[in-house]
Amino acid sequence: IDFIQTSLMPGADEAPKEPPISAAQKKKMTIDETRKSLPVFAFREEFIQAVKDHQVLIIEGETGSGKTTQLPQYLYEAGFCADKKRIGCTQPRRVAAMSVASRVAEEVGTKLGAVVGYSIRFEDCTSERTAIKYMTDGMLLREFMNEPDLASYSVMMIDEAHERTLHTDILFGLVKDIARFRPDLKLLISSATLDADKFSKFFDNAPIFRIPGRRFPVDIYYTKAPETDYVDAAVISILQIHMTQPLPGDILVFLTGQEEIENIQEALNERIKFLGSRIKELIVLPIYANLPSDMQVKIFEPTPPTARKVVLATNIAETSVTIDGITYVIDPGFVKQNSYDARSGIEQLNVVPIAKAAANQRAGRAGRTGPGKCFRLYTAWCYKHELEDQPTPEIQRTNLGNVVLLLLSIGINDLVHFDFLDPPPKETLIAALEHLYALGALNHKGELTTLGRKMAEFPTDPAMSKMILASDEYGCSEEIITIAAMLSVNASIFYRPKAMAVHADAARKGFWSPVGDHLTLLNVFNRWKETNFSTQWCMESFVQHRTMKRARDIREQLEALLERVEIEAKSTTDTEAIRKAIAAGYFYNLAKLDKGSFKTVKHRHTTQIHPNSSLFEDPPRWVMYYELVMTTKEFMREVIDVDPRWLSKIAPHYYKSNELEDATTKKTARKAGKSAAELQGK
Ligand code: ADP
Ligand code: MG
Repeated sequence: IDFIQTSLMPGADEAPKEPPISAAQKKKMTIDETRKSLPVFAFREEFIQAVKDHQVLIIEGETGSGKTTQLPQYLYEAGFCADKKRIGCTQPRRVAAMSVASRVAEEVGTKLGAVVGYSIRFEDCTSERTAIKYMTDGMLLREFMNEPDLASYSVMMIDEAHERTLHTDILFGLVKDIARFRPDLKLLISSATLDADKFSKFFDNAPIFRIPGRRFPVDIYYTKAPETDYVDAAVISILQIHMTQPLPGDILVFLTGQEEIENIQEALNERIKFLGSRIKELIVLPIYANLPSDMQVKIFEPTPPTARKVVLATNIAETSVTIDGITYVIDPGFVKQNSYDARSGIEQLNVVPIAKAAANQRAGRAGRTGPGKCFRLYTAWCYKHELEDQPTPEIQRTNLGNVVLLLLSIGINDLVHFDFLDPPPKETLIAALEHLYALGALNHKGELTTLGRKMAEFPTDPAMSKMILASDEYGCSEEIITIAAMLSVNASIFYRPKAMAVHADAARKGFWSPVGDHLTLLNVFNRWKETNFSTQWCMESFVQHRTMKRARDIREQLEALLERVEIEAKSTTDTEAIRKAIAAGYFYNLAKLDKGSFKTVKHRHTTQIHPNSSLFEDPPRWVMYYELVMTTKEFMREVIDVDPRWLSKIAPHYYKSNELEDATTKKTARKAGKSAAELQGK
């Protein structure tokens, strides 16, 4: 067996100094005992008093101390929900909002969606009775559109403030503003790390309420040499820990995304099978944003005393979600992060090294219930010299189109002077305004148009909102909302088990549309609909049933929104009309095949069609893509074949006519005798 040989963990066989409290032990405690065992409990009365005394309170406390689950409950118990007012609590992540709400519902002893509920994009699990409402920061932002003073809330907790997501950052400015004319609204800004002073200063020197954490020592191990393949190194380390470290003590591994998690899960399960009874039971559990909620709860189930649990997590487990019983942390040192270049308009999701602050948060997860160990799959030198101290706030590295549209629609017109904790780059703001102008959401004075107002009703990106609204003109709103829903699921639609890859690929090709992937997605949905949404059909067709159900839910909501903006449901089989509607939203993303490779028309950025696309083998000359993704190379994902002449009508103010000219036709490009694969530099 080749995986024990790495020497990546010096001293890995050292035993912990005192046995940790196992999750199994913890399960034996009643809910009430568990609540009382949390660090915040000792400060309950003091906290309630502080909220009574101050309008704004900054809360700082170690992850897992009980801020998210307990503080809203304390205020609820102390009567802050009189007059049907609610306590709101924002989370940067969907999974966290759902998982925390379900936990708190259990603690309160109510059904989820009754006294305790949650609201995330495309899913509202609250009711009239909901007093404690967890929601994503993006959802609260949207609530400002209907309720600019947050009148239905008595308390708003902006949680995980240290994450500095774009939406949370915007919320800081908005809640600070409304606090001035709503003296009865209590604001809590809670954070896991050391930014409390910065938050305090921003909120006019609001007092800081510190909850001292309990933290056991965590030994840090580094690799001796840099690891070239951290995925492989992670698998080896997991098994190495499992085979050499005493039970109990679960393992938490930080990975960058669903695909990586699934790969490791598969690799691990294979090795476990191979090792058979030579090792103790190892339970492999994933947690990531799109994991269905029934699977999410599994990570909280106590581990049997004869087994070990390994949780494969995205950085959701860094601070948003606390899993008890973790003794070992494996930290490859990477995170998936978006970046945006305002000049070229290019947005990317890249895997980048984490910051020191994040590395220390990750390590801290091993020392919550007893002494722990953190294995960093990078060298001590790298930690010291290559990692930044703090991550860059998202507002400084992302496209602001969505947020700008939202702010304009709630009447905030002077964006340059908006009260930002850290301002975004000016170019990014300008680029967002220009993009909205090109889409027709703004007039030349920078004011919201009727179209812009309608676009803001949709919880989708401006380009998608525009595509949906444009579908009216092309008589294809039915098809376009299906496509929008399929693009919004954010999870793979097709299922491709390794052992059946050939069948899976053949099934997928059965759905292919010759004019592009959006139409392929439409085919999948419509065929599924014809079977009356059959689960069996999904299995036979290698289509993910869960993903499809989610697409159906999203579609229903988009349908309701269409009604709200008074667009009729119209259907067509004319794929050209459908592609024109898509182009009305995504005209930015036009690329042209030029001397063997695709270049974006506006910025001459070189890119290529994703091999999964139906247009990969025999690419047309002009394509429009949905997004750019970076894997081994940069790819355009979900592309359609377009005619540049459409664009002179759809986006005349955006493209100059010479940019849309075609020197050579589609046919001559192919006649050049190169295969598509060659053309794409494969
Ligand atoms: P903080 O917000 O300070 O990081 P939390 O309130 O999230 O702390 O966590 C407090 C405790 O609640 C932790 O011990 C955590 O394990 C537990 N907890 C949170 N969510 C769940 C859940 N869905 N199921 C079981 N336990 C949970
Ligand atoms: Mg929390």
